[in-house]
This record gives sequence, structure tokens and C-alpha cells, in this order.
Amino acid sequence: MLSRGQPIRDADGKLTHYIGIVVDISARKRAEIKLEHHRNELEQLVEYRTAELSSLYNQAPCGYHSLDRDGMFITVNDTELSWIGYTREEIIGRMHAVEILSPDSRELFEINFPKLLETGELAGLECEFVRKDGSLMPILLHARAIFDNNGQFSHTLSTIIDNTGRKQAEKAWITAREAAESANRAKSVFLANMSHEIRTPLSAIIGLSHIMKRGSTDPVQANYLSKIDNSAHHLLAVINDILDLSKIEADKFILEESDFNVLEAAQNVASMLYEQAAKKSVSLSLEGDQFPSLLRGDPTRFTQALLNLVGNAVKFTDHGAIVIRIRQQPINGNQVLVRTEVEDNGIGIAADDLQRLFRPFEQVDGSQTRRYSGTGLGLAITRRLAELMGGKAGVESTPGKGSTFWFTARLKIASAKPLMQEECKNHEPDKDILKKKFAGLHILVVEDEPINQLIATTFLEDVGMEVKVANNGLEALNLVAAEPFALILMDMQMPEMDGIEATRKIRQLPNEWNTVPIVAMTANAFTEDRAKCLEAGMNDFITKPIYPENFYTLLLFWLRK
Ligand code: ADP
Repeated sequence: MLSRGQPIRDADGKLTHYIGIVVDISARKRAEIKLEHHRNELEQLVEYRTAELSSLYNQAPCGYHSLDRDGMFITVNDTELSWIGYTREEIIGRMHAVEILSPDSRELFEINFPKLLETGELAGLECEFVRKDGSLMPILLHARAIFDNNGQFSHTLSTIIDNTGRKQAEKAWITAREAAESANRAKSVFLANMSHEIRTPLSAIIGLSHIMKRGSTDPVQANYLSKIDNSAHHLLAVINDILDLSKIEADKFILEESDFNVLEAAQNVASMLYEQAAKKSVSLSLEGDQFPSLLRGDPTRFTQALLNLVGNAVKFTDHGAIVIRIRQQPINGNQVLVRTEVEDNGIGIAADDLQRLFRPFEQVDGSQTRRYSGTGLGLAITRRLAELMGGKAGVESTPGKGSTFWFTARLKIASAKPLMQEECKNHEPDKDILKKKFAGLHILVVEDEPINQLIATTFLEDVGMEVKVANNGLEALNLVAAEPFALILMDMQMPEMDGIEATRKIRQLPNEWNTVPIVAMTANAFTEDRAKCLEAGMNDFITKPIYPENFYTLLLFWLRK
């Protein structure tokens, strides 16, 4: 009960009696006890929850810590402690964050900590812990800055993720990539060497059979020589295909750009294969949209892609017709999509075989007893060339009825006015013009290989040139010091002094040596080599084996300059 009393006094101030009240407070007491009980329960719950949160905090699979304004530790969780190997006592209030960071990460910290205080947020910082034992641990750090109600900085809240796995994966990937790159480089070097090694003897075979055929009157011998020449050409074509494919796959393939007439290129392909088709009573025709002007692209590679398709059509068709169709579709103001189709009514291809044919080395019939020869590279090259030209390649076919192989290319519309093709063409062979107008000029051949010396000299003397031969770059320097030359043919690889160095030295000489045309003759068919030649001051580049036709065209071009 609750009681309250008060003394009552008379007029003289004398105490007469007391009055009091008594209240029954049992209900209130009961309520109070209940409340107390509740409070205890609540406290227990809070304690329990705190413990739960703390274990969540401490045992999370990531590190947590808080720093004060100076970067000193305020809190840290168990996970992080287990990573770094310090005890909580060693760290809290005693250590600065940079003390557990590697030197590189310290720099990052110095830059980013002030930023964190300013912007309130820091995400995805890659750094490294230094453990107590000195070992390193890659981490990924996220942090927030916490501000109080007055906007004053209070502390940071950082979350740290173990980055070891990711770093290891990255490292493994880099190692794998480096291995692949180095294998690729080795492959390129191998290919360049192989190309050089094969082209050199091939040069001799092709060059010498030309020279022999020239002087031969015996028809049987002439026939044999033609066969040698054809075989050598075939071998060269195979080597070129392998090289092209490898270069494309090694991303070493660079398309040239010049203005050309697509229909004319197709016409050339048709005329190259016309005879071969006619022998099998297969007709070969060309249908095409009229192109408004010249297109800009790589005519050689466009021709090569088409030649592969038409060559196949002729090979796999015994009688009937082959139609080359060229269509264009404007893409935008300055580009067209050129679609080239080659339709034949040859043996056709089963649906199952269609797609794999565009992969290198794939043929419908790869058996030993197959009827058709070939390497299986043509379609793979055509598809890759089309892709390099921004297009695609494909086929529709019905066995026994025939096939339509196609490829597309995005080509720019040339800005220049169409060339007057007819005017530019000279109807007289270059060889004859050379003989008539340029005979008697002095040409220097710098070449160490006796057979190549013989071939170049013979080709030159055939058009009436006066030829001097230098066996290497040093000899060439001595010769140019003594007399002027109208043109220099320069091999690249030679003992004593190579072609690059000889060219540089010649270009340093006074007077006409600045401008005399120097043409590299090389068995290296890679574009980098070409760049090297031009850089050293050469004007042009001819790849061995040297064919008389190309050789004379090039010679005439530079002598006319
Ligand atoms: P190759 O002709 O040297 O074997 P390709 O890559 O050019 O290599 O062609 C691969 C294969 O595709 C050929 O071996 C042949 O089986 C098939 N093929 C190509 N063109 C035709 C065609 N026009 N008709 C029928 N089969 C063809």
C-alpha cells in the first residue's frame, strides 16, 4: 500500500491529530515486477543479438575494420586479424593502416584516404596486406566514411576481400597468354624462314627453266620445261596459301588499299580460268551490276578470294556452265556491299559437309583414293579474306545438281574520278618497250646467290641492259662510288653487309644517290620486311621467285620515273 499523512493543529499551533490516506497499490506493484521482468528479457535479447552481430562481424568471410581520421585502427574483425597475424590488442589504437600495407599499397593509401574523407566512398581498390610474418596477401578494399549528425567525420568502415584467387587466375592467364604469344611469334619466325628457304630454290627452278626455254628449240624439251614451270608455280601457290592462312591467323595480314574496278577484277579471274573450263566443255560467264565508279579496297585479295571459288567451280564441274555474278548494295553514302557469287552445276555437296568446308584443311573427300587434288585451304582463305574485307562467305548446294559459293565485301566508293582504263593500258608488252626505249642503261644487281645473279642478269640482258653484279652490300658501295647506275636491285640477306644497311649507306652518298631507284629483291614474303625496306630508303619490293612479266613491269615503272 501507499500511505500519506499530515499533522493537524489548533489555533494556538498545538498538534491535535493526524489525518492520513492509504492507497492499495498491489496492481501497480504487479505491473512493476512485470516490467522489470520484461526489461531483463530485453537486455538478454540485446546481449544475445549483440553477440550474434559480433560473431557475424567477426567471422564474416571478409575483413572489416574502422579507422579514425588519422588512419589509426578503431575496430577490426577476427577474420582480418587471422589474415594479417596480429592480435586485436596489437592493433587497436596502436597501429596505423599503412603499417599493414605493402610499399606500393601505401602509396595508394596516401592518395586515396584523403579522397575517402572527402567523397565518403572508395570502391574496388586493389592492394596488398603485409602480414606480421612479412608475407604478402592481395586484397580488394571497399570503404565508406561515416559522418555524425553535424556532418563531422566520425570513422571509416572498410570491407576487405581476399583477392588471392583472382590474382592467381590473372597470373595464370597472363602466363598462358604470354606462352601463346611466344608460340605465335615462333610460328611467324618459322613461317618466314620456311618461306625464305622454299622460295630460294623455287626461284632457281622457275628462273632457270625460263632461261632454258628461251634458248630451246627442241619441242620435247620445251614441253618438259613447261611442265617444270607449271609444277613450280603450283608449289608456289600452295606455299603462298599456307603462308596467307598463317598470316591471317596470326593477325599479321594487312590489306592494301587502292582504287579498282570490281567487274574488271572478275573479268580477269574469268579469263585466267577460261581455257581450263573450255577444256572440260564448261562455259564460264560473268554477270554483274554496273558499278558507278571505282571501289577502294585490296584488288589482289579480292581477286584471290574469287579465284579460289571459280577455281573450285571449274575443278568440281565436268560439263555445263559456271556463272560469276557480282551484285552491289549501297550501305551508306560512301560504301557498298559487293556480293560475289559463283554458281556451278558440278558435283554438289551434301548438307552435312557444307559448313566444315570453310575450315582449314577440310575437304568433302579427304581419302587417299580421292579424285580431286587440293590442300583444302582455298575456302578457308576466301572466308577469312571476306571477313577481313568486312564481309562473309557461304555456300548453298545440292548434291548432283551444283553449288553456289559466295562471299561479300564492304568496299568504299573511291572518291577519285574513274580512271580511263583504256588510256592507261599499254598494248605493247613491257619487255618490248624496255628493249626499245631503255636498252643500254646500267643496272646494278646486288645479290650473293650465284643462281639468282644469273637469273636477274639474264632477264636484264634480255632487254639490253648493261649489268654489274655485287656479291654483297660492301661490294655494292664500292661499285656505286665508281660509276652511276639507272637502277639498283638489292637482295636483303647477304654476308658482309645486308641490303638494308647498304641502302642506308647509298642514300647518304651525295648527288643522284638520293634518288636512284632501289628495288628490294627478297624471298621474305612478310609485310614487315617490306616496311623495313621502305624505311631504309628503298623504293619498291619484288618477291622471289621473280617472274619475267612482273619483273619487266616493275623495271619499266621505275625507269620511267
Ligand atoms: P581444295 O579445293 O584445295 O580441296 P578448298 O578449301 O578450296 O580446298 O575446298 C574444300 C573442299 O570443298 C573441296 O575439296 C571440295 O570437297 C569442296 N568444294 C569446294 N568447292 C566446290 C564446288 N564448287 N563443288 C563441289 N565441291 C566443292
